[in-house]
Amino acid sequence: MIFVLAVAAAVLSKRYLGAKEHTRTIYGCFDTICTITTYSSSDKTEEYENLLRDAELKFSAYNPQSEIYRLNSDLYAELSPDTVSLLCDAVTYSNLLSDYFDITLNPVCLLWQEAEKNSVLPLNIDSALSLKGTENVYIDIDSNYAKILKEGASITLGAIAKGYVTDRIVQKMRANGETSALINLGGNIYAYGLKNNSSAWQIGIRDPKSDENSSAAIVEASNISIVTSGAYQRGFELDGKWYHHIIDPKTGYPAENGIISATAVGSKSELCDILSTAMYVAGVENAFRLAEEYGIDAIIITDNTIYYSKGLEGKIKPSGNNYNFVLYQAVQ
Ligand code: AMP
Ligand code: MG
Repeated sequence: MIFVLAVAAAVLSKRYLGAKEHTRTIYGCFDTICTITTYSSSDKTEEYENLLRDAELKFSAYNPQSEIYRLNSDLYAELSPDTVSLLCDAVTYSNLLSDYFDITLNPVCLLWQEAEKNSVLPLNIDSALSLKGTENVYIDIDSNYAKILKEGASITLGAIAKGYVTDRIVQKMRANGETSALINLGGNIYAYGLKNNSSAWQIGIRDPKSDENSSAAIVEASNISIVTSGAYQRGFELDGKWYHHIIDPKTGYPAENGIISATAVGSKSELCDILSTAMYVAGVENAFRLAEEYGIDAIIITDNTIYYSKGLEGKIKPSGNNYNFVLYQAVQ
């Protein structure tokens, strides 16, 4: 027994011997600042940056070189297998969660971007909403191309792409034999292994009512993704009102239901990304129903309360006294 322990300790210490921190900050991807940290004897963060840059060139709806941009502008594009795979997932979840998550909302998202630029509220939301619908997107998985079937219709993968690429980076890290890493794509996080190979990562959930360095709660995390959608992340103020970037597919307006941030915690970052957006739109009760249905944990922050799901008991603690801190229990 002692011999086995000694061998195990020797193997472990050899594995971590010479492990150093490598941090890479990446600008210009997914309209946010990304950082990737590893604790390892060799620095492979450039490989992970390349995956990010590659994903930006495939999935961005706003980068004229990207595959999705070309699909939206030409109504037809040949796609890489990665894009076909992500687009298929995106359409599937848009069908399953259509009241909350829908990639075909892009015409409405574009209207709100115009509104921000011109500081005028959009007038034609109903006509932009009428262009929504996954029946307007045709994907040919055998021949790797897609078509938009209705003039004016378009898609955005903004609510899912960061999760997808996070999963790809995690896959690559596993193949590379990484033991300890943190991926942070602007609030889309994956805590890989243990911090510095020693103890669980402590992930701060941003306080939506305070500055970017303030957390409302801390979650202990290892080998798990934590993805937050928040009203504070993007938007603009007009006549004293904040118009944020998460759109309710039923109205075409920024979702307004009391939630100010929604966090999904689970093993697959892509699913967490989809669900953080969907839960934000769904409202507190439906958010926890979705979390249960899709097998993830949730942290929902309203103006005065942090609600968390049962699976986080013992792993989450409040950072201060700004909010009530409540284990969510469904009303029977
Ligand atoms: P996230 O930050 O993951 O919640 O994604 C928000 C981004 O996804 C927005 O900036 C829009 O590009 C797009 N989006 C907004 N509302 C929705 C929605 N209800 N479903 C799908 N995508 C959305
Ligand atoms: Mg999302």
